[in-house]
Amino acid sequence: MSEADDCLFCKIIAGQIPSSKVYEDDTTYAFNDINPKAKIHVLIVPKKHYANVAELAAADPAELAHIAEVAQHIADERFHGAFRLVFNTGLDAGQTVFHVHAHVLTGEVLDE
Ligand code: 5GP
Ligand code: ZN
Repeated sequence: MSEADDCLFCKIIAGQIPSSKVYEDDTTYAFNDINPKAKIHVLIVPKKHYANVAELAAADPAELAHIAEVAQHIADERFHGAFRLVFNTGLDAGQTVFHVHAHVLTGEVLDE
């Protein structure tokens, strides 16, 4: 059994667990966070499983760049282009799902 077989976000991408889709293309999926920390809180994930942002950057830097562009696209459509992009990396940084995901926080003026 591979790491991806038991991964919550792989199951969401495969449609085995429901999610509220915001954006999708061949390589990338975005959906609303179940516990939003801002008025708009979207998670963007590569469809391929990588544990964290450093693994993704090493294996597929173009996909990491694409995730930044998708974040901009979502913020352009929903909040005049301003957004915060966060990758929690490692348990002690608050990472709880070990399939890399960008948190896109937008939709309101954010505190510093
Ligand atoms: P992390 O803490 O790993 O950086 O972020 C994981 C995020 O996934 C959290 O913000 C959490 O609310 C979200 N999350 C956890 N389980 C689910 C789920 O089943 N569906 C959705 N849409 N989000 C989830
Ligand atoms: Zn996964």
